[in-house]
Amino acid sequence: MGNMRNLKLEDIVKDVTRFVAQSGMYYEAFNPTVQGIGEIYDVLEVTGLLPEVTTKTSKSDASSERLRASGNQAFVSDKNDMEALHFYTKAIGSAIPNGKVMALAYANRSAVTFALGEYGDSIKDIDRALSGNYPDHLKYKLVERRGKCYSALSQYDKALDDFRDFKALISKSNLGKEKIDLLNSQIDKLMKECTETSNTSPITNSEFPRLSHDPSPYIQCASNAVDIKFSPQMGRHVVAANDIFPGDVLAIEKPFASVLLPPSYDFFCDFCKKRCHSSVPCLYCCDIVFCNEVCREKSWSSHHSIECDLLPSLIAMGCDKMELLSIRILLIATECGKRFQKLIDSYFAESSKASPELKGFVDSKYLSDDYCSTHYLETNCDSRSSEDIFRRGTISACIIHVLKESTDFFKFCDFSVDVPDDLYRKFTVDSDLSLAHVVAGDLILRYLMSAPCNAHEIAEMRVWPTRNDLETESTEIGGAIYPFHSLINHSCDPNVVRHAFDGDIVVLSSIQKIKKGDQIFDNYGYHHAIHDVSIRQQHLKSQYYFTCECPACVDNWPLYQELPDGTPFYTTTGFEKAVQASSEKFSNILTNIKNGETSDETVKFLTQHLTLLHQNVKRPWKEYNQCQEAIKQCLSLKANHYVFKKKM
Ligand SMILES: [Zn+2]
Ligand SMILES: [Zn+2]
Ligand SMILES: [Zn+2]
Repeated sequence: MGNMRNLKLEDIVKDVTRFVAQSGMYYEAFNPTVQGIGEIYDVLEVTGLLPEVTTKTSKSDASSERLRASGNQAFVSDKNDMEALHFYTKAIGSAIPNGKVMALAYANRSAVTFALGEYGDSIKDIDRALSGNYPDHLKYKLVERRGKCYSALSQYDKALDDFRDFKALISKSNLGKEKIDLLNSQIDKLMKECTETSNTSPITNSEFPRLSHDPSPYIQCASNAVDIKFSPQMGRHVVAANDIFPGDVLAIEKPFASVLLPPSYDFFCDFCKKRCHSSVPCLYCCDIVFCNEVCREKSWSSHHSIECDLLPSLIAMGCDKMELLSIRILLIATECGKRFQKLIDSYFAESSKASPELKGFVDSKYLSDDYCSTHYLETNCDSRSSEDIFRRGTISACIIHVLKESTDFFKFCDFSVDVPDDLYRKFTVDSDLSLAHVVAGDLILRYLMSAPCNAHEIAEMRVWPTRNDLETESTEIGGAIYPFHSLINHSCDPNVVRHAFDGDIVVLSSIQKIKKGDQIFDNYGYHHAIHDVSIRQQHLKSQYYFTCECPACVDNWPLYQELPDGTPFYTTTGFEKAVQASSEKFSNILTNIKNGETSDETVKFLTQHLTLLHQNVKRPWKEYNQCQEAIKQCLSLKANHYVFKKKM
């Protein structure tokens, strides 16, 4: 088959599958969950199908200047602010750190954020340009811009300082006297405005959600309104430990691991996943940015010290979200390889011992930030076909290949690790792949099976104000492993909803009244009002290996447009008038919600209305869904969102 370059994972899988079939071999002979990835690796090597290592692009002031020129074109000529931000961010990432070219790129980006009214971001970039090697004779421009930013933020003392500095700096510029006099008189006007207005404290962001009940004594991220239960039929699942009302916040969870999708690399922090228009770049690669130096350092020790060299190969191989997430789990769990032996000691010997209901617990606690909870997430290994497992084993072998060829991951274990005897016998180890490689491959394979059943998307609500209301679109920016949220089963009529706040922190809120003892149900992307029952059943079976028995599936509820409307069927007597009055108010405020109204009073009314409907009206009923959607819209406009000035 020869040595083919830059093969995508899908091509490698296709070619090796064909090779195995033509050679009269069977997938079963290669079951990597039984004997490790060693034999698949050998076949890939013999057939020349192992992926090539792609090295990262080095920083270069010349390419930074080209990117900055593209940014200028986008900003000045095309009036496309977001495109300009993209190019300037790339220009900053490509520049030699702390040089003049980098300072120029920061300065140019500060002009875009200034134009967007994102003054805090603009100030940060100006500070970086000024403390970098920004040319002295141009500094007056930046100081003026920063003064205007402070003025817009009502921080007039700082604005006045900058305007005074401007006057000192402009004398060092190359401008003629006439021009200098003109600019000075403009600054005098701005200074006058500043002295006539008093400082106000900067606007603080809306409050971060808080749990509606006391914290759980044993679930790190959840309130005591929920419990983790186990049954042989349902496995681990989550139930209400108390009566829960619509709008209650039940859990606030930080992921064990999360990744950005490559198209989000420019505008989101690689560590916390917050949107950031004043990012700092990785000091060694051109593509990854962070919201500040703190996130950059945390990211480096958590995963990026390995990924910095690894990502170019992964991207060239066309790794998808689940594959990127699987690698990130391994890096975080092993602290970039440093604790690899420790991980083996804890998990390979123990894996058979823990009873199913205690799997994932550490000292009777369920901790999202401890690897244990992630390790024991469902893999559905027993339900998978041998073809499926062969495919994932092939991907794992390719990942291990680039991990060992392009990074220092394995240097901490000297390529040799201690494993229990039974495991040593289990894995076939050939000369090119050491036991450490095969064990790492086994872990990657495990995550390649558990991530698709457990990962959640990280989304951002994108908002474009139009003349009459808001245009909104939820966009996926990345994926994450939330060990607690992963325990929640699916319903096509979910009683909770998830939203990501502050980047990758997920908040679980109730959107039904849930009785004590009832199960908590999330939605895995197949909702009764959107997808037909046959579509739902088919996808849930193929991705999650179960048959849904929710009321919407059992009673075959219609899609949204056909949901019963008009006069409801009451399940109680004596509440008709109250429901009617509340419904009238609901229809009146629906327009405000479509326009982006999210006040606490509005949300409170919506949750009360939903409770009233829940207790008195038979479902399915359209207004019940409308009310849930209204609550979801309010929550999503408080969660990760970005308001665009215009649609490009
Ligand atoms: Zn960050
Ligand atoms: Zn890097
Ligand atoms: Zn269902």
